[in-house]
Amino acid sequence: GKTETLLEVNNIEVIYNHVILVLKGVSLAVPKGGITALLGGNGAGKTTTLKAISNLLHSERGEVTKGSILYRGERVQDLDPAALVKLGVIQVMEGRHCFEHLTVEENLLTGAYTRTDTGAIAADLDMVYTYFPRLKERRRSQAGYTSGGEQQMVAIGRALMSKPETILLDEPSMGLAPQLVEQIFEIVKAVNEKEGVTFLLAEQNTNVALRYAHYGYILESGRVVMDGPAKDLRENPDVKEFYLGMS
Ligand code: ATP
Repeated sequence: GKTETLLEVNNIEVIYNHVILVLKGVSLAVPKGGITALLGGNGAGKTTTLKAISNLLHSERGEVTKGSILYRGERVQDLDPAALVKLGVIQVMEGRHCFEHLTVEENLLTGAYTRTDTGAIAADLDMVYTYFPRLKERRRSQAGYTSGGEQQMVAIGRALMSKPETILLDEPSMGLAPQLVEQIFEIVKAVNEKEGVTFLLAEQNTNVALRYAHYGYILESGRVVMDGPAKDLRENPDVKEFYLGMS
């Protein structure tokens, strides 16, 4: 049958500080069970789009001034971030944001704060450790002393502890060595396939993102300039020239 669209962004406009128009009518659809990539260079509007979805713009004096955002057909743009987590949507922010003074395991457990099924929480911690064996080894370490790659793993692992239906993942490759980037994307792929978690990921690294995503949207200056199945985008001459550096 037809794949269900979980998240739908319809022609949104975002303005910062009442005057700076940053998103100029962005539309996208995230199908259930897929990995969808939001691509584009520095400042194209990827992070702003993710923050608009999870209602995190207010603290930066940004607001959605036009358009709508629907999750399972329900309008979500007036929900606070905690209510969105209850609906099954969680954002992993750029820059990872661990609680540095807590251990790796304590960080992971903070992801389960909205849950009351305490028995299942222990099982999910094991689930996270099977995807991230490195975190199991480091579980008693203070998160602030772990590497950038380990902190990215903690951030994703913590998101998984909320039992999400959808993860909004901002720039998972940022600051990581190529081999680690590949490792993180392999885990995203495995979580998508085995746990059925839907991903919307923002990524400047077009090359790696288009190898793992099913569908991609390319943003330039706050507009979607191209979209299509990842395979088609990889073979598109303009994408090759401007985003994959192959001309
Ligand atoms: P990056 O990879 O650098 O995060 P991005 O594609 O995610 O890039 P955004 O962070 O969404 O881009 O930024 C889009 C535009 O909005 C940029 O021009 C940026 O300078 C501007 N911008 C972002 N945050 C604010 C803010 N709080 N106030 C004003 N302008 C902002």
